[in-house]
Amino acid sequence: MQSSKHRIIILLSLLLLLGFLTTSLASYFVSRSSLLEEIDQNTLPLTSDNIYSEIQRDLLRPIFISSLMASDTFLRDWVLNGEQQPEQITRYLKEIQTKYNTVTSFFVSEKTRTYYHTNGILKKVDPDEPRDSWYFRVREMEPAHEINVDPDMANTDAMTIFINYKVFDYGGNYIGAAGVGLTVNAVKTLIETYQQRYNRDIFFADGKGNITLSSAGFSGRGSRLQEMPGLAELATAITTQDNLTLTYQRQGQTVHLNTRYIKEFGWHLLVEQTEDEAIEQIFDALLANLGICALITAIVLFITNRALSAYQNKLETLASTDKLTGAYNRNSFDALFAQASADCHRNQETLSMILFDLDHFKSVNDTFGHHAGDSVLTNVSERVQASVRESDLFFRWGGEEFLIVLKACDQKGAFRIAETVRTAIHDAPLYYEQAEILVTASFGVAQADPQEDANSLIKKVDQALYAAKANGRNRSDNRSQRRSCSAHHLRVRTTPPPQFKTMPPALPPSQDQPLHNVPCSDANRQKH
Ligand code: GH3
Ligand code: MG
Ligand code: MG
Repeated sequence: MQSSKHRIIILLSLLLLLGFLTTSLASYFVSRSSLLEEIDQNTLPLTSDNIYSEIQRDLLRPIFISSLMASDTFLRDWVLNGEQQPEQITRYLKEIQTKYNTVTSFFVSEKTRTYYHTNGILKKVDPDEPRDSWYFRVREMEPAHEINVDPDMANTDAMTIFINYKVFDYGGNYIGAAGVGLTVNAVKTLIETYQQRYNRDIFFADGKGNITLSSAGFSGRGSRLQEMPGLAELATAITTQDNLTLTYQRQGQTVHLNTRYIKEFGWHLLVEQTEDEAIEQIFDALLANLGICALITAIVLFITNRALSAYQNKLETLASTDKLTGAYNRNSFDALFAQASADCHRNQETLSMILFDLDHFKSVNDTFGHHAGDSVLTNVSERVQASVRESDLFFRWGGEEFLIVLKACDQKGAFRIAETVRTAIHDAPLYYEQAEILVTASFGVAQADPQEDANSLIKKVDQALYAAKANGRNRSDNRSQRRSCSAHHLRVRTTPPPQFKTMPPALPPSQDQPLHNVPCSDANRQKH
């Protein structure tokens, strides 16, 4: 029973744990894969779109200002008039810078190759000077303007976005390039914001893989894609393709990367996110889930264990007790007696036994009916249980025959208890449907010898009971094995069946009375 309970508990725990684990892990992996897909398909491309549109928005105004400059009649007239009084153009450029809050504004004359800017003449542009190559590119290009990111010589070589606009005279002849410059600070601030808010790395690389723009915390990762762990092998793909969505391994971590070519700058925008950081929240949710599942499993197991134990106890009680009287039944005798006997042996105490049988009980049934008989049996049991100790074992041994095992009790004590019980049964009448029923019982008492087994002790009390019956009933008799029984000296004193409402006279108890005349054969025992 105990082991089958454990089997049920183990099976239930396994089922619950398996069920919870499966559902928790399944939902974790589903959320994880949809989150990662979301990162690749939406999150990173959207960040890239936002940054790109922010850049375009920031560029729109300076492009407009540069186009105004290119069509400005003052600028063109001043050039056509031979670039007299350079302070006039300097003042003009200064006005543009102040009014539109640009980092710089400039004009380079095609005729004189002079580079004018807000503080005056900067230099002459030279086709052999690599830093001036931009001018000769603009001069040859088809579109009216370009956006170029270069260090600004007039502004301590700070990275600057230049809008270079071609200027034509009224006849459509090219006369120079004008425009404004902006710092990349606005874009940089945007990158920082994304970095902090979403924990994404955002940076730009030019066509050669050089990192051109990144957030403040990025510097540690290197200055070229080709040098960066994990990205080195991807550098060619990144710098040659307009759009890429991929994952790569960096220091044991999976990184999701989205790239986009920003044609205005000729740069590639890279937006990346580490997988671990992205799934941290759902991993925490998984742990919380598993914690709750473990708790629920523990509660269910606790409740099941309690219910099974209660059920088990009930079954054990049902199996070991007599339904009518509540006393232990004969089936449970062996185990309980063995335990009581071992306890007494260990504590060096004496164990005694009482066997009693109701007198003329058949007459009770015959006179009042079987139900009345049952009621008498229940009532007698209650009286017995009230007269013995908790530690004593009370059995319904047969139909109207009961047995009491008394721990730490010698023959004298047992005899006293038998008398107490006998008096309790005999002294007060029982009532069944207004009928008064007087019953008596006969008692056999014996003390166990050291190491004596149950059968031998039962035999002794049985003989003593037989003697009590033979000696007139409603009495207690002792019996020890030393006194052997002899069928030859049989002296049976029979009492007539009870006249109800009139009790048979109680015979004085015969403590240690010689009982040579008590028969103990089975044939005689049947005469009870
Ligand atoms: P004695 O004094 O010699 O013991 O006489 P007795 O009539 O008690 O003995 P006998 O063995 O002849 O009868 C026992 C009766 O007990 C017979 C049986 O029907 C009755 N009996 C046994 N078990 C039950 C029970 O559970 N309920 C009822 N009502 N009667 C029972
Ligand atoms: Mg009887
Ligand atoms: Mg009997």
